[in-house]
Amino acid sequence: MDLAYGPAYTAFREEVRSFLKKNWASSEQFKGDPAKLTPEQRELSGLPRVERDRAFRQKAIAAGYLYRSVPRQYGGGEQEPDSLRADIIRDEFFRVRAPMEVSGNGTSMLVPTLLECGAEWQKEKFVNKTLTGEYLWAQGYSEPGSGSDLASVRTKGELKDGKWVINGQKIWTTLAHHCHYIFILVRTEPDAPKHEGISYLLMDLKQPGIDIRPLKQMTGQSEFCEVFLDNAMTPADWIVGERGKGWQVSRSTLKHERGFIAGAERQAATFASLMGLAQRCMKNGKPAIEDPQVREHLAVIMGYIESFRYSSFRQLSMNLRKQDAGMFNFMTKIAGSNTNAEMAKLARDLIGDDLLLAPPVSGDRLTKGEPAKRRGNEQWVAQYMSSLAMAIAGGTSNIQRNVIAERGLGLPRSY
Ligand SMILES: Cc1cc2nc3c(=O)[nH]c(=O)nc-3n(C[C@H](O)[C@H](O)[C@H](O)COP(=O)(O)OP(=O)(O)OC[C@H]3O[C@@H](n4cnc5c(N)ncnc54)[C@H](O)[C@@H]3O)c2cc1C
Repeated sequence: MDLAYGPAYTAFREEVRSFLKKNWASSEQFKGDPAKLTPEQRELSGLPRVERDRAFRQKAIAAGYLYRSVPRQYGGGEQEPDSLRADIIRDEFFRVRAPMEVSGNGTSMLVPTLLECGAEWQKEKFVNKTLTGEYLWAQGYSEPGSGSDLASVRTKGELKDGKWVINGQKIWTTLAHHCHYIFILVRTEPDAPKHEGISYLLMDLKQPGIDIRPLKQMTGQSEFCEVFLDNAMTPADWIVGERGKGWQVSRSTLKHERGFIAGAERQAATFASLMGLAQRCMKNGKPAIEDPQVREHLAVIMGYIESFRYSSFRQLSMNLRKQDAGMFNFMTKIAGSNTNAEMAKLARDLIGDDLLLAPPVSGDRLTKGEPAKRRGNEQWVAQYMSSLAMAIAGGTSNIQRNVIAERGLGLPRSY
């Protein structure tokens, strides 16, 4: 296996590095002596954080480093697909903590869907402002009773006087209380077979027929919402794709380059902090890292991370050769969720009862000068909680296993 990038990619990495050197700086450098900044860095240094990030992103888009799969006319960087270049960009931007693409449902789900299936006016109206983070989108798929079996959605959409009138309930709607719009699956053809009677609509969340109720989580935060729709309305042409074809629209694959290596690097960084924890925590009067069981557990996790890394390289190679990755995407999600959960569980065992005392919400506690140990523990509480959520979000691990078994291995359906 040849893991070298080759001269063209090495030159590209140098190009990205010199772009970042000229246009971005660390927080300390931005706050420090202006004479030590480049003219481009100086332009950014006086701006508030949000505006600074936005201005930098615009430059990075113009250089073709961000939103590479989005055409320029909609505010993207418009480049030929090249996963290796995309990984180099991610790598280099992450190294100097430069702002990357805005993350969220809007950029990761809606934009690719609109580019593939949307009407021209929808692309013009929504794509650019979604990329810049001006429009935030909620994902209105799940309902009580329709999660894994998503095609059973019951929220009703009826066309009346040039508007869709929507009645029903969505649940688990991440950050709906902070979003401007929602893309939503509704049943518009009640008599059609279940996969064929669904439409994919766009809707303004700020209107009287919508009641958004944030759910209080055990972490104390309210990240998810219930969304009640009582004669909520959206114009007839705010439908993406054809009426009754919303299931296919919602399946629009993410055609943009995926971050193959980034996941492996993030896992390696979490593992490095887990090693630090094992060195700091005590077990039976000695640093936990000296305990044979802890060492064995760490070695097993490291094995998973290395396999994940090499599997990412393999996916990357397949992508570059335009080969179908088959079941890899499903396997990657499960492997990623499992390894994150294993790391969080070991951290939980190492920290012990102290973990119960560490509040997951950071913010003000951190600024009140809590001891460093507590800050570290808070990080692990967050990691533990999110590892549980990641095995459910975007399709549960059980469902992914079913897909691998049935479609990948050709095993018979179990039900
Ligand atoms: C962090 C997070 C963010 C989310 N954000 C959103 C969002 O923004 N918008 C949105 O619409 N939804 C969102 N969801 C919802 C998510 O998509 C659903 O929770 C998920 O699809 C599972 O559906 P469910 O909760 O109804 O569980 P169910 O489908 O009721 O499943 C319950 C259990 O039964 C198992 N199960 C179900 N069917 C089968 C089967 N056939 N074979 C084997 N096991 C099965 C499941 O694996 C699970 O363990 C989010 C979820 C999480 C955790």
